Amino acid sequence: MKALHSVSDLVAAGLMTPEAGEAVRTVADRYAVALTPYLRDTLAGRTDPQDPLYAQYVPSPAEAYSTPEELEDPIGDGARSPVKGIVHRYPDRALLKPLHACAVYCRFCFRREMVGPGGEALTADELDSALAYIRDHQEVWEVVVTGGDPLLLSPRRLRGIVQALSDMPHVGIVRLHSRIPAADPDRITPELVEALTAPDLATWVAVHINHADELTPPVRAALARLVEAGIPLVGQTVLLKGINDSHAALEALFRGMVRNRVKPYYLHHPDLAAGTSHFRPTLAEGQALVTGLRGRLSGLCQPTYVLDIPGGHGKAPAAPAWIEEQRDGSYRVTDFTGRVHDYRG
Ligand SMILES: *Cc1c(COP(=O)(O)O)cnc(C)c1O
Ligand code: SF4
Repeated sequence: MKALHSVSDLVAAGLMTPEAGEAVRTVADRYAVALTPYLRDTLAGRTDPQDPLYAQYVPSPAEAYSTPEELEDPIGDGARSPVKGIVHRYPDRALLKPLHACAVYCRFCFRREMVGPGGEALTADELDSALAYIRDHQEVWEVVVTGGDPLLLSPRRLRGIVQALSDMPHVGIVRLHSRIPAADPDRITPELVEALTAPDLATWVAVHINHADELTPPVRAALARLVEAGIPLVGQTVLLKGINDSHAALEALFRGMVRNRVKPYYLHHPDLAAGTSHFRPTLAEGQALVTGLRGRLSGLCQPTYVLDIPGGHGKAPAAPAWIEEQRDGSYRVTDFTGRVHDYRG
């Protein structure tokens, strides 16, 4: 069963009509397209552009439109890259990006100008230099391995990276960010899982999941293989117009994650990536959604709503203020129903 890598492949698989395919050819020339065999089978028979899974992966003509505020490097990674493959913005944690390819190309991707097939992976020497940077920076306690999708690497190469980090006494945590559990769950083999852990290092995996429909039986089984190997899972979700921008969709998603032992970590406001404005709600819409989740879901099911500040300034919690200081030193506290209370203390 083959992966799909082009509009022609999507048309041949029956996921787009030839006319719909023609309408996205220029878009697909600019932004990579890929679906794994698993997603091709999961999406088989679907052609509705509003379908919450379909819309995440199948290109749309709307991607041809960029708005003036959109940026080539929306979160300013370039500004914080001391050596190839490293982004070091906060003192205690650094990103390590060993490759640029993904198993799928999400239509709203914030790194869409950087990721793609054939996009260079680090050579062995470059990876050594990136690891040397981490070795030389004693303040780095947590290494966030991202990309591209690090779980596309072979178990052998993953084991090499994890072992190298485990040999650095100042590194306590390796956190791998991946879309693979939801996009290619059978790739999460026992051998791959085994390669992710090492003595003297705590391995965490952050899984990227945007809709409850992604939690199919194979995906749930892949998540279970990771958890049962002792790897805690956190969830990363992008708030996406038309896909998960309702209380019902977010509630089902976060309950589904927690039910599968994934702690919702971040709900990202979509970054200003080119050709993605059709996916972006306003911040006010996002705030209204997260405020409404307080009364509906337990604390375990609540992610932090965050905005990555353009220009490389890091993430800012984006939820509205629940507590406001008053002139007289007291506070106005809003509860989950919107009622306001006075607090002195
Ligand atoms: C998001 C990000 C991190 C990780 O931030 P956390 O808030 O710890 O998840 C680290 N470095 C960079 C450059 C980032 O963009
Ligand atoms: S898996 Fe992540 S990096 Fe890759 S295309 Fe999707 S959002 Fe972008």
